[in-house]
Amino acid sequence: MLKQRIFWHDTVDMPSDKDLPPLPDRVGVAVIGSGFTGLAAARTLAQRGTRVAVLEAETIGWGASSRNGGMALTGLKLPMQTVIKKYGRGLAKRLFQCSLDSIDTVEQIVRDEKIDCGFARTGHLLAANKPKHFDALKDEAEFMAKEFNHKVHLVPPSEMQSEIGSDAYYGALLDEASGGLNPAQFVAGLARAAENAGATLHARARVTNLTRSPERRSERSGAETKTAVEGRDTRRFVVETERGTLEAESVLVATAGYTGPTTKSLQKKIIPIGSFIIATEKLPDDLARELSPKNRMIFDYKHYLNYFRLWDGRMIFGGRAAFFPENENTIARSAEILRREMVTVYPQLHDAKVEYVWGGTLDFAFDMMTHVGEDAGMFYSLGYAGHGVAMGAYLGKTVAEAMLAGNIKEHPFAQFDFPSAPLGLYDGRPWFLPFAGMWHKILDWVE
Ligand SMILES: Cc1cc2nc3c(=O)[nH]c(=O)nc-3n(C[C@H](O)[C@H](O)[C@H](O)COP(=O)(O)OP(=O)(O)OC[C@H]3O[C@@H](n4cnc5c(N)ncnc54)[C@H](O)[C@@H]3O)c2cc1C
Repeated sequence: MLKQRIFWHDTVDMPSDKDLPPLPDRVGVAVIGSGFTGLAAARTLAQRGTRVAVLEAETIGWGASSRNGGMALTGLKLPMQTVIKKYGRGLAKRLFQCSLDSIDTVEQIVRDEKIDCGFARTGHLLAANKPKHFDALKDEAEFMAKEFNHKVHLVPPSEMQSEIGSDAYYGALLDEASGGLNPAQFVAGLARAAENAGATLHARARVTNLTRSPERRSERSGAETKTAVEGRDTRRFVVETERGTLEAESVLVATAGYTGPTTKSLQKKIIPIGSFIIATEKLPDDLARELSPKNRMIFDYKHYLNYFRLWDGRMIFGGRAAFFPENENTIARSAEILRREMVTVYPQLHDAKVEYVWGGTLDFAFDMMTHVGEDAGMFYSLGYAGHGVAMGAYLGKTVAEAMLAGNIKEHPFAQFDFPSAPLGLYDGRPWFLPFAGMWHKILDWVE
């Protein structure tokens, strides 16, 4: 039985938890969580002169950011047709533009910080599992051109062999604006960049309690941050961690699918859902080229979707093989399910050895949208729904900028409510996941 081993972690020296620096007594911003969101925010805040500490429960970059598929994708989790219906044309256009800007942001950070993570705009392919999915993709291509002036290409079934060495699909939609990278190399590079900018990073410093001190900022000399805004609550946060306590003028919660009871009000709005990946042995060059001649980021149309891509001659194949987050059980089961799925798509991989399997946790809001904002003085950026590679870096940066400018309410992702569970039937323990899993399987069958 394969045990969890994260392939990406074998490609880079992840930040270590040896010789941990002491916690500072007082900072401008305490960032909770050290993934793309927290580190990109810390880099921006520190570059603009704010004293910032990143507090991480495990090791730096431990969460979804070093375990994902490395696909930097255009668009949001929800189809843009749904986004227009829910929020209107104006806001939908701003949100879609953020998704394009997010990939530019990754490109810019990679260039500026010289992060060696193989970032390349190889495009993404959304593959139709059924003929009627391809009809929907035709509508989607027209809609994206008309409403967003965004060019995507249809790949008819007869031309699929130029894109993918598989007969499993009935055509696809190609978006050349998307890209791919090695996520562990990117998050390790972001950590170095945040430190170089002046942020301090604190592994093994799980935040266990957050309270407001009665003392006001102005009573202290020398503000550590520029986030003081007129009319805002200026009491300090007392941030208790497993390694000591510090005070912060502001807090940014960047804990994604690992959001816990320390920030209960946010935990109750986030559903943690497992996603799993296997990686094969290194394949012969000609076989790898046959599987994905253009090295696209590929995913299918299903609710219970598969996503896959090559990296350095290995097939990296992921999916929502179990709905519950990663544990020994879900990982072992996922290895089997994903191998089966992979061989269905690519019979050529029947004898390929699967060398790695791992899992990570996604963060879904009840409306499947990403949310940024401020809750009782606590800033947050959460609910990436499996679209957080580029968006995490982008929202980390732009939320940090909004914290400094005092205008978080104007952020495009702060323009709609962050819903709680229907009827309040959720306290952070996702009892309904088996039903949701079944429901998605039924939808895949009928749709
Ligand atoms: C298997 C998998 C595949 C994916 N594939 C893709 C993909 O191809 N493309 C894409 O766009 N997105 C993908 N995603 C989603 C993407 O990885 C995430 O959206 C993104 O990494 C979220 O980044 P983050 O910084 O917000 O959170 P994370 O990287 O999850 O970091 C959150 C951190 O917060 C820490 N934390 C939690 N509580 C506390 C506490 N109390 N104190 C201190 N620290 C705490 C955790 O330990 C964790 O390290 C995938 C996710 C998974 C799991």
